Amino acid sequence: MEHCASSFKQQVNGEVTIAVPDQQQEIEQWVFREKVKILFGNFRLSWILSLLVSTLFLHLSLAAGHYAVGIGWWLTAFAVIMARHRLVTVFFRKIDSIPLPDYRIWCRRFTWLTFLTGIVWGAAGLIMGPMLSSVDQVLIFLVLIGLSGGAIPLLGIHKLTLFAYIIPTVVPYMLWVAMALLDKLAIILMINALYMISILVAIARTDEYITESLRLKYTLEQRTEKLQDANEKLEHMILVDALTQLYNRRYFERQLDMEWKKCHRESKRLAMLVIDIDFFKAYNDHYGHLSGDECLKSVAYVLSNSLNRPGDIIARIGGEEFVALLPDSDEAGASTVAETIQHNLRHARIPHAASEVSDFVTVSTGLAVTYPSDRVSALSLFTAADKALYRAKAAGRNRIVVGELEPLES
Ligand code: GH3
Ligand code: MG
Ligand code: MG
Repeated sequence: MEHCASSFKQQVNGEVTIAVPDQQQEIEQWVFREKVKILFGNFRLSWILSLLVSTLFLHLSLAAGHYAVGIGWWLTAFAVIMARHRLVTVFFRKIDSIPLPDYRIWCRRFTWLTFLTGIVWGAAGLIMGPMLSSVDQVLIFLVLIGLSGGAIPLLGIHKLTLFAYIIPTVVPYMLWVAMALLDKLAIILMINALYMISILVAIARTDEYITESLRLKYTLEQRTEKLQDANEKLEHMILVDALTQLYNRRYFERQLDMEWKKCHRESKRLAMLVIDIDFFKAYNDHYGHLSGDECLKSVAYVLSNSLNRPGDIIARIGGEEFVALLPDSDEAGASTVAETIQHNLRHARIPHAASEVSDFVTVSTGLAVTYPSDRVSALSLFTAADKALYRAKAAGRNRIVVGELEPLES
């Protein structure tokens, strides 16, 4: 019961889930941080307006001949406005620093400075009001009401800050006006009370709405992140061979098609090696299937370490059959890669007691190279390399044979 009471419901796509307390705390912290960012971001919008209004008050008092009071007040107002501006600027500079800034402390400082700003506005009303003409008094009254009304969307996201601003801004001047117009006191107080109540209702509704939107945003961001992770894992599973961690046949076919078109466009050669482990059935029969799997992993490791260029691709396309795709390689370059593979495999010295050609595991390689064009196909490149592999097997295995491509029949 307590658990449910301290949890809240999140609704995404019509599905309702209950957040557990730990997660709820994390969400609330995130929501608070987002609110502080919005609060501070809003101030960036409004500080020029604050400077303009303070200059208007200065102008009114100077025009009425109250130089010392006007300038003294304006300097104080300017200092407070700039202090708040500096606080916000420094906060945004530190926002990505490690460790993260303590949002509660920054928010508290902002609230205090906002309270001071409210006092400055309220003081303008109280000090200047009695010195000015009744027209200017009304002007000040309207400006103060305007400032507090404008603060609702800008500060409403943090209620305490909003009240710290509105109360010192309007209440003193309102009381002064009410006292000056004693016969209208009841009406003025009633209008003010209505004004305050409507502000309270508006803030409560806006806050509820924004908080709920931020919670949903958090949930959605979390889910998107999880989905992206799951997609990456799925992609990996679809394109990578589970045993050897090399790319699989599906990936190879996709890349072959892509590289074929790319080399065609750029008039570059595309080379292919089809590599097959010699006497692998005998290996399995001699050492067992599990050792066969280990052997496949070791050969895969040697193969992937024998390719140097970033564009080269090695994939496992069958049981003990692999293929290397070497874009922009001529026959000499592809032969070098095939020889490096034989060389590295010899050095790996994987025992193969049942082989008829060596005491260690060996491979046979078929090699083919072509300039991709309309006269040959990607399949014919593969067929040529595969036929060459067949000839390498027939010629005694553990060797590299270069194949010829057959042009397409016209
Ligand atoms: P060759 O020298 O002519 O290539 O002869 P080979 O024995 O290597 O070729 P063959 O095609 O006769 O046998 C391939 C063997 O590879 C048969 C199969 O049991 C084994 N094999 C295929 N996939 C796997 C696998 O994932 N794990 C293991 N351990 N063995 C596999
Ligand atoms: Mg084989
Ligand atoms: Mg085979």
